[in-house]
Amino acid sequence: MSNSTYDYDVIVVGGGTAGWVAAMSAARMNRRVLLVERKGYLGGVLCTGIPIHGFYDSNQRKVVHGYADEFVRRLESKGESLGYHMTDLWFGGFVCVNPAAVTPTIIDFLTEAGVEMLFYSQVTGVLRNGSSVEGVVVQEKTRKSAHTAPIVVDASGDAIVSHLAGAETQVSDALQPPTLIFRLQGVDIPKLRQHLKSNPGAYVDWRMNPGTAVTDKFLDGTQFFYVHPELVERIQSRGSYSPIINRFMFTVTPDGEGIVVNMLRARHVDGKESRELTKASVHLYANLEPLVRGFRDLIPGFERCFLAGCEPDIQLRETMRIIGRYTLTLDDVVEQRSFEDSIALGGYFIDIHSASDNAGLWRRTEGHYGIPYRSLIPAGLNGLLCAGRCISGTKEAAASYRVMATCMAMGQAAGNAAAMCSHRGISPHELPASELRRTLLDQSALVDVNGGSKVDG
Ligand SMILES: Cc1cc2nc3c(=O)[nH]c(=O)nc-3n(C[C@H](O)[C@H](O)[C@H](O)COP(=O)(O)OP(=O)(O)OC[C@H]3O[C@@H](n4cnc5c(N)ncnc54)[C@H](O)[C@@H]3O)c2cc1C
Repeated sequence: MSNSTYDYDVIVVGGGTAGWVAAMSAARMNRRVLLVERKGYLGGVLCTGIPIHGFYDSNQRKVVHGYADEFVRRLESKGESLGYHMTDLWFGGFVCVNPAAVTPTIIDFLTEAGVEMLFYSQVTGVLRNGSSVEGVVVQEKTRKSAHTAPIVVDASGDAIVSHLAGAETQVSDALQPPTLIFRLQGVDIPKLRQHLKSNPGAYVDWRMNPGTAVTDKFLDGTQFFYVHPELVERIQSRGSYSPIINRFMFTVTPDGEGIVVNMLRARHVDGKESRELTKASVHLYANLEPLVRGFRDLIPGFERCFLAGCEPDIQLRETMRIIGRYTLTLDDVVEQRSFEDSIALGGYFIDIHSASDNAGLWRRTEGHYGIPYRSLIPAGLNGLLCAGRCISGTKEAAASYRVMATCMAMGQAAGNAAAMCSHRGISPHELPASELRRTLLDQSALVDVNGGSKVDG
């Protein structure tokens, strides 16, 4: 049943990590779905080539399956990913995908599901009827348009729709730093591995599970490398590069010949402010070339490396989060709490990067925890749901659930909930979570802490 007084049954704002899954999930329930994205591509941070975390917990137990797994399998079948890779690091397992294949694959999924897509269009306002959100105002290239729907999903990362709707949001005092992620090709990775084997102590990673040793076997298998702090200092001492952190994380790309570099960061940036983001971008781009030159000159295996790609936007770990009907906490995460209305599972460690220096809060977590449906629902408003890093959680909890597999799992839950609510003409808080959970289980999603059968692969 479609409510023809509205233009759509569901509008999803943001075609990033969580949003595209939300749009597809709602459309697979035969809803008329509009997906609005301000950029010209889909997948958000998925398009940078950094590893997708959150599929596994620290004990290598699979905690995200469902549509996120379908995405990985499709990329694997096209030769664009090597699939799941298990590791003795705190995150248990991860997936790397070819970033160039992300948008076309997502577009295929959305086309198959019948989602209407609107790119290059920014949501700048919300249509409200009392406390109910009933649509969005969109700035297209040359005109403004308005679109109505009984349910809107805010998958903007920044909680921008919730903010525009007047929902209460939270912002931490010292926001985690934004990062310019880039890719290098032409790296001789076997040479890098050999260098690390012949220089004990040169490999550093503080996220190794208890009992794991840096053996030759470990170094042959690892897809992660950290640039040693001393080396970063040597690059810095050449005068043209000013980092805020003395570590760089490298991830090997699926072709085995490239490296994704994560951690070229800017200090104290408020990611909600365009002017601050502009200043940060200018600073980070100015640092890019000297840094790559430093890698070439100083790191064995990098002599012939070249810049192969750079995510044009700097990426934001943290901006606004909603205050929802439940706020997930650090205790919920570390005590592996389950909830009656759990609609997804998180299994990633607490990963907080400092806004200003090398410090951070990195804490291994045992097992996994539930993400309550209530955390996706902004308090005090009807017709609105959130998915992705902007759901309701404390800074510490968000530092775990913000990873991409978890965001995709939340997208699946939000899309289904939106479809069910629009079909019944109810608001998200009126939907019995038990029904949503049953639907998600039918779609192979994992929703119960230590529940169900162990999923392999
Ligand atoms: C530097 C960095 C490194 C990270 N490393 C990892 C990692 O190694 N592994 C991992 O799994 N996770 C990692 N993460 C975390 C993870 O990538 C993000 O938290 C996650 O992708 C957020 O997903 P999202 O859907 O909430 O937001 P996004 O993927 O950012 O999607 C939001 C989308 O909304 C769109 N949008 C925003 N506002 C509007 C508007 N007004 N109108 C229309 N569209 C709008 C944006 O253009 C974007 O496409 C990292 C994050 C950062 C920033």
